[in-house]
Amino acid sequence: MINAQKIVLSDDMYCLGIESTADDFGVGIARSNGEILANAVESYIPVEGGIHPREAARHHAEVANKTLLQALTTAKIKPKDLTAIAFSMGPGLGPCLRTGATVARTLAAYLQIPLVGVNHSIAHIEIGKLETGVTDPVTLYASGGNTMVTAFESGRYRVFGETLDIALGNCLDVFGRQAGLKSQRGLPLGAAIEQQALRGKTLIRLPYVVKGMDLSLSGLVTSAVTQLQKGNHSLEDVCYSLQEHAFAMVTEVTERALAHTEKKEVLLTGGVAANNRLQEMLRIVSEEHGAKFNVVPKKFATDNGAMIAWTGFLAYSQGIVTPIDESYVKLRWRVDRADVPWIN
Ligand code: AMP
Ligand code: MG
Repeated sequence: MINAQKIVLSDDMYCLGIESTADDFGVGIARSNGEILANAVESYIPVEGGIHPREAARHHAEVANKTLLQALTTAKIKPKDLTAIAFSMGPGLGPCLRTGATVARTLAAYLQIPLVGVNHSIAHIEIGKLETGVTDPVTLYASGGNTMVTAFESGRYRVFGETLDIALGNCLDVFGRQAGLKSQRGLPLGAAIEQQALRGKTLIRLPYVVKGMDLSLSGLVTSAVTQLQKGNHSLEDVCYSLQEHAFAMVTEVTERALAHTEKKEVLLTGGVAANNRLQEMLRIVSEEHGAKFNVVPKKFATDNGAMIAWTGFLAYSQGIVTPIDESYVKLRWRVDRADVPWIN
C-alpha cells in the first residue's frame, strides 16, 4: 500500500468495487458523496455440499463480464468516467479472491486509474455505517465465513470477540444441509431455518460455548444434527433451539463489548443480519445499555461490490492506493491488521 497525499474528492468521482471473497461475485459503483449507483451480484450455488473454492472461482470468471456490464449500465457510467477500481483483497478463499483481483488489476491497468485493495470485513462495517448513519458502533459482523465483534479503538478496528471455529452463517448452513432443508426461491439456508424456527415451541438444551470473549459453534451444530437424527424432536423445535443458542452466544459477546466500550451505537452487518430473531435479541441488549441498535439494509447485508466501492473511496481519499505488483491477495487479513486512516 502506498500512503500518498490525501485526495480531495469532488462529486463527479466514481469508484467501481469488485467483491469475490467466497460464493458471491459482486460489482458495485459508488459516488464520492456516498450514493450507491449500482450493486450487481451473481452467486455461485453449489450442486451439493458447501462452497468448492475452485468451482466458485470458475463461476466468478464466467460471470465477471456480464456483472461488470450490468453495474456500468445500471449506474449509467462509462469506464472512462471511473476514478478508481477497488477490490476485496481478503480475507477469503484464495481462488475466489484471485479471480476478483485479476479482473480489478486488468481494469485499473487498462484504464490507467488507481487500484485500491480493500479489507472485506471492514467493508461490511463501512457500508453499514454509510447506510444507517452510525459513526462509532460496536459491530457484530456475522456471515457465512466470518463472525466477530469489533469496535474502533486506538486507531484500528479491534476484535473484541470472535468465533474460535466456524462462522455463524456456516453453522446455520451446515445444519440446514444436514437437515435436508433446501434453499427455496433463491432464499439462503439461514432464511429457511428462520422460517422453521418461527413454528418451534420447545427449547432443547444444546451446547452453549462462550470462552472469555470468544465463542465456539461447531459443537452446537453437531449436537443439533444429532438431536434431529435421534428423531425425538421436530425440525421446527431443533431450528428454534439452534437459533436461540447461537444467537444468544453472539449477543452475549456483543453485550460485553458494549458494556466495556460504553459506545452508544450497535451495528449488525453481514449475511446473517437479515435474521429477525437475531435483530430482536441485539435490539434488546442495545437498549438495556442505552445504545441505538442499527442493522444494515438487506441488500447490503450479504457480500456485495457496493461496500467494496465505498470503502475503496474512503481509503483512496486518504491517499491509499495499491500498486499492481503489490496487489497480492491476503487470505487471512484480519480487521485489526488493516489501516483505517479515514477514521479519527
Ligand atoms: P455472506 O457470507 O455475507 O454472503 O452471507 C451469507 C450467509 O448469511 C449464509 O450463511 C446464509 O445462510 C446467511 N443468511 C442469509 N439470510 C439469513 C437469515 N434470514 N437468517 C440467518 N442467516 C441468513
Ligand atoms: Mg456470500
